[in-house]
Amino acid sequence: MRATTAFNRMLAIPGASVVSIAFEPEGIVVAIQRRFRRLTCPDCSWSGPSIYDRSTRRWRHVDAGGSKLWLECEIRRLRCRRCERVVTEAVPWARPAARLTADVQDLAAHMAQRMDKTTVCALLRLSFETVADLVCDVVAEHINDERLNELYRIGVDEISYRKGHRYLTIVADHDTGSSVVWAGEGKSASALAGFYELLGPERCAQLEAVSLDMGGAFAKATTEHAPKALQCIDPFHVIKLANEAIDRVRRRAWNDERHHRRVGRPPNDLKQRARQIKHTRWALLKDPASLTDTQRQTLRQLEAERSVLYRCWQLKEALRDLYRLADPLDARAHLAWWLSWACRCRIPEIIKLSRTLRKHREGIVAAIEQGLSNSRLEGTNSKIRLINHRGYGHHTARSLIAMIYLCCGGITIDLPLR
Ligand SMILES: [Zn+2]
Repeated sequence: MRATTAFNRMLAIPGASVVSIAFEPEGIVVAIQRRFRRLTCPDCSWSGPSIYDRSTRRWRHVDAGGSKLWLECEIRRLRCRRCERVVTEAVPWARPAARLTADVQDLAAHMAQRMDKTTVCALLRLSFETVADLVCDVVAEHINDERLNELYRIGVDEISYRKGHRYLTIVADHDTGSSVVWAGEGKSASALAGFYELLGPERCAQLEAVSLDMGGAFAKATTEHAPKALQCIDPFHVIKLANEAIDRVRRRAWNDERHHRRVGRPPNDLKQRARQIKHTRWALLKDPASLTDTQRQTLRQLEAERSVLYRCWQLKEALRDLYRLADPLDARAHLAWWLSWACRCRIPEIIKLSRTLRKHREGIVAAIEQGLSNSRLEGTNSKIRLINHRGYGHHTARSLIAMIYLCCGGITIDLPLR
């Protein structure tokens, strides 16, 4: 068998055949030739016979036996009659303007969905920038406007990146397992307005419910562009606010113990007491079902001491009961009961919390009545944090957004295996 025939069978390049093979310092260079002579415009698929000019280009292909492998082919430009400009022809083995074949890009994107960036770069011997760029290319091919057609119940949230200095606004579809349908830079009303403008008035009008946080920005944009949509408050924002309030009470109690030495108590005892309070943190915040024995013990001790922290814990669990009600229609009454308890509890942090929640009462109840589960949206958030953690979030907003679509947008990348 001739070497060219062997490479032809092995590589099976769509629409081209191998004419020669050379072993060069940078790897194996496989020269290929197109089977069809007509040129195709990559933008509009118009095709014609006339060549504007020609040059030779190399594309990096999937490695062969540990060696880098390059495809080399003549690439031509044509004057597209439909686009009325000179464009580089489309080739079946690579995406427009890419210097990697589609196979390498798909392989890298498939890996990027599952591994950290350093590993992908090391295994495929590609630079960080190349991986970031190819993710944008692959995502652009897989994502289209159609995903926005069937949106009825959506969730909006912000996420931070670059150590919390920059933000993205994320829109997820509640009805399809919270897949991300849109991501944009910033966290202001105008950031979300960008999404509604893309959606257009018709598709905005079909939105039934939008779940969001308690900050005013997203609510403002939603009221403006989708006034008929029911605005719900995501449960995890409610619980997060409650946890933050408890944490503040705990810190205040800790400081009190440290700084106000009570008469008649030996200093060592005081120190130990302060440390104890510091260590109540997880006992107070965790789900009771997943507490450890020590944490359970801590809670029992707080109860025995009639500690303010124990009352906080009771209030928090009562608030969480709101999301454990058997009948969603009981939500309004339960929340009203909770608010009246909380505003009389004489703990300033909790009173402040109850005021905030009272302001958003309608939205909180609406989320429960609509059955908008928070866990999945929260799952999307932690997935995005994972993307950041795997090293994909330190560059531009554009590449992070592409990674979010790739990993949370329900995109399936087929491996280039034959
Ligand atoms: Zn064209």
